[in-house]
Amino acid sequence: MVQVRGLWKSFGPNAVLRGVDLDVPAGSVTVVLGPSGSGKSTLLRSINHLEKLDRGFVAIDGELIGYRRSGDRLHELKEREVLRQRTHIGFVFQNFNLFPHLTVLENLTEAPVSALGRPKAEARARALELLERVGLAEKAAAYPRQLSGGQQQRVAIARALALDPKVLLFDEPTSALDPELVGEVLDVIKDLARTGTTMIVVTHEIGFAREVADTVVFMDGGVVVEQGPPREVLDEPRHERTKAFLAKVL
Ligand code: ATP
Ligand code: MG
Repeated sequence: MVQVRGLWKSFGPNAVLRGVDLDVPAGSVTVVLGPSGSGKSTLLRSINHLEKLDRGFVAIDGELIGYRRSGDRLHELKEREVLRQRTHIGFVFQNFNLFPHLTVLENLTEAPVSALGRPKAEARARALELLERVGLAEKAAAYPRQLSGGQQQRVAIARALALDPKVLLFDEPTSALDPELVGEVLDVIKDLARTGTTMIVVTHEIGFAREVADTVVFMDGGVVVEQGPPREVLDEPRHERTKAFLAKVL
């Protein structure tokens, strides 16, 4: 489903991704771990084409993201095309990024109506269904500032789902939350995993990775150092860098 091949990305002289390969099969959950600065956010942003790539490519269901191929060269797509592709890629940020001036319900219906042209009534019905799913149906008329951080993040997840994305990307979805609010957000993500949502989750929550991940990817210095099932990578890491990292976070 999600295919990353030979991905290189530099910022000036700083090579942040140095040949990343990643495969995320449909219906699976990949958790990405790694120290600060290892390139995790840049990888997610590259998958969503929020970054231009220096080399390599990202494809979802065989469709190149951000580029089209002509002969052996890649040409960047027009912004409008990229926006269309992004409707298939849900992104949940550390800081929720809800629209502050819109109600919870309006946060969920805005993109389906404006980007996908869905009828308002249909978008509303689907939004209410999704709010129900994340346990916030009673907050439909509230504004983001009236919600706790955990509630805002659950709304952000529902908003991402409202576009029926092929894949959901999470960049440290719980790291801005007070500890007592982390569980409610992880529970929503776990529920999505159970129902076969394809996800890539950057997180430092090792317990969550152990429970939910099909694949754990450990990144350091812009490369995938090792990847595999949680039992292998978390309990029997083969590389010194993985061992050293886990020793710090566990
Ligand atoms: P963290 O765990 O702290 O979130 P990360 O693994 O997500 O770290 P990235 O945010 O991908 O790491 O950053 C990797 C490197 O790329 C860092 O050295 C960062 O300073 C650099 N970087 C990221 N975005 C930019 C940018 N827009 N311009 C310049 N440098 C950047
Ligand atoms: Mg990051």
